[in-house]
Amino acid sequence: MAEDVDVVVIGLGPGGENAAGLLADAGLRVVGVESRLVGGECPYWACVPTKMMVRAGDLVRDAHRARDLAAETTVRPDWSRVAGRIRDDATNDWTDGPAADRLTKRGVTLVRGAGVITGPGEVTVGDRVFRAGRGIVLNTGTSPSVPPIDGLDGTPYWTNRDVVAVPTVPASLLVLGGGVVGVETAQVFARFGTRVTIVEGGPRLLSREEPEVGDLLGQVFEREGIDVRTNTRATGVSHDGGFTLHTGDGDLTAERLLVATGRHSNLPGLGLGRIGLREDARFVDVDGAMRAADGVWAIGDITGKGAFTHVSMYQSEIAVRAILDRPGPPAAYRAVPRVTFTDPEIGVVGLTEKEAEDQNLPVRTGFTRIQDSTRGWIQGPGGEGFIKLVADTEWGILVGATVMSPMGGEILGALAVAVHAEVPIDTLRTMIYAYPTFHRAIESALTDLEAT
Ligand SMILES: Cc1cc2nc3c(=O)[nH]c(=O)nc-3n(C[C@H](O)[C@H](O)[C@H](O)COP(=O)(O)OP(=O)(O)OC[C@H]3O[C@@H](n4cnc5c(N)ncnc54)[C@H](O)[C@@H]3O)c2cc1C
Repeated sequence: MAEDVDVVVIGLGPGGENAAGLLADAGLRVVGVESRLVGGECPYWACVPTKMMVRAGDLVRDAHRARDLAAETTVRPDWSRVAGRIRDDATNDWTDGPAADRLTKRGVTLVRGAGVITGPGEVTVGDRVFRAGRGIVLNTGTSPSVPPIDGLDGTPYWTNRDVVAVPTVPASLLVLGGGVVGVETAQVFARFGTRVTIVEGGPRLLSREEPEVGDLLGQVFEREGIDVRTNTRATGVSHDGGFTLHTGDGDLTAERLLVATGRHSNLPGLGLGRIGLREDARFVDVDGAMRAADGVWAIGDITGKGAFTHVSMYQSEIAVRAILDRPGPPAAYRAVPRVTFTDPEIGVVGLTEKEAEDQNLPVRTGFTRIQDSTRGWIQGPGGEGFIKLVADTEWGILVGATVMSPMGGEILGALAVAVHAEVPIDTLRTMIYAYPTFHRAIESALTDLEAT
């Protein structure tokens, strides 16, 4: 017999977990359905453990850099400390007891298993059927995409889920894909002594970003001993103890292979057809209130609005407001920030120059190098990068910005405010920027913007 509830949340990634908790706080009868771990990808296989790896890699690198500036050092990287911290402190050995308890204490009924929409307002999990009076929230997230490369299937290749759990680093690693996951992982492992080769089909790393990003990151990686093969397509894989990647430019070999070629939405088999949506869609289309269909809301990576935890959380607040019939502004994505946690760190908000041009905006850019700033110079090794501003000259505001710098994601905060609040460039020009900070380079980029 069907169980009557108010809301069923399918998938408890960061946004789904947040939505389920808030709806229960508001007094609704909420069922949260999760087929793996409460909290989703971010705390167990993505943001949190990978940033712990990055932090560790940065410490190793800084210990080497200390030799130039401060101390005699002998550095013996020890991956077991990283692996132990991820296993014990961050992921509780990939169990979700504390997260599940937090949720159920707020009144959410947690149901383990795969949720399927079996009719309007109806969700089935195993042999239980729930009728959701107010609605269904979809937050099923993404999984690693594995390209159909000859010979790859059936080999013990890694995805992001394996990388965060390895007890030791391999002697050598091939990274297929020069996107965010590929470059963050490559740099960390190289810093722990792995011989790393990145194979990227496009002309540069991080192809979605400003071209200056990929160009500089490529140089930094080469200097750190990472072999970057751009414009290189993998045509086949063989595994015989180690991996051989066949490419148009010859064979590459390594002990391990990381496949980091993107993600696909967890939508097949969800029953979208039962509510009039396309089963084979790449993303779920949503309106400004995150509504996907009558009585159905979708949030997180599956909406295609930015595959980031902060977007998932942002959307969950909007969906909750809509379900509770509370007023509030619709979703806006003009100032979505994103950070790639390499060294130097890459923070981006809004549009790149090309994206702005593609939208036919009257564009002007401003550029400055971090090493030309006082703070960049003081920093010494690692103190390089740039700030690039993208302005709409008609409105006199910034529509996008990229910061590649030590702490680039933190410096980005000021520019995210500027893009979000449409702060006039004239106002940014008359601001006082503390000396000698990295963010003071924003002023130099603004000067360049006016000069161009
Ligand atoms: C390596 C890596 C690093 C990342 N680093 C960052 C970062 O630094 N910062 C950042 O903002 N973002 C980062 N991301 C992205 C971030 O992890 C996601 O954007 C974030 O997890 C939000 O995803 P989500 O809410 O859509 O759902 P997810 O976190 O993907 O969770 C979806 C949940 O739904 C469950 N599920 C799926 N189908 C069903 C079903 N039918 N029934 C029940 N349960 C189901 C899944 O088991 C999963 O737990 C990273 C991603 C990767 C891969």
